[in-house]
Amino acid sequence: MPYSFIYDLTRIPQRVSKQLFESAYEVGLHKVVGSQVKRVVKAFKVDEATGLNLVDTIALIEDLISVQAANRIQRDRFDKAQRKALLLPHCARKHMDRQCMADFKADIPTYECKNCQESCLINQATTLGEAKGYDVYVLPGGACAEKILRNGKYDGVVGVACGMELKMALSLLESLDIAGQGVFLTKNGCSNTNLNLQSLARIL
Ligand code: SF4
Repeated sequence: MPYSFIYDLTRIPQRVSKQLFESAYEVGLHKVVGSQVKRVVKAFKVDEATGLNLVDTIALIEDLISVQAANRIQRDRFDKAQRKALLLPHCARKHMDRQCMADFKADIPTYECKNCQESCLINQATTLGEAKGYDVYVLPGGACAEKILRNGKYDGVVGVACGMELKMALSLLESLDIAGQGVFLTKNGCSNTNLNLQSLARIL
């Protein structure tokens, strides 16, 4: 969990967060991040909604805006990719203990979801990805992505993670010449994390 704080963007109405990121992008905050982000954070009361302090909120929003910008820049190339992978975080599993029936394949490495819980986000995200022809991996940690992407010879990848992890992945994708799209977790942490399935479906 790269952030030193827990965020929960599900407390912000989806309509407001969409407006927030679109406004930020339109005024070019992906190029001029910093003090202007503070203005947007205050205007949309993001710190109040999340309960985070202003410094953490600004760091979070800067990362999310960077990911949005990278998605737009890479979209055309991503659309042309032939072999695509979907990387999901294991912390979004409904159960993190023996109730999760997934097999862990250490050699890949990935959890192989057995679809044991209909309401499990990983089950639903896996179904979405496979229906679109993606190879789906449920990663035990972000560091596993490189091995999977190298071995699979992918030219496109969708990653679901917190904003900081997605931002850190950009240089890896550049070095591997893979077009990426990021979907940020709407709630981070070591377990019970949350992702927006509608956002994922739009990206896929
Ligand atoms: S649906 Fe998949 S990931 Fe979720 S608890 Fe069951 S096996 Fe684990």
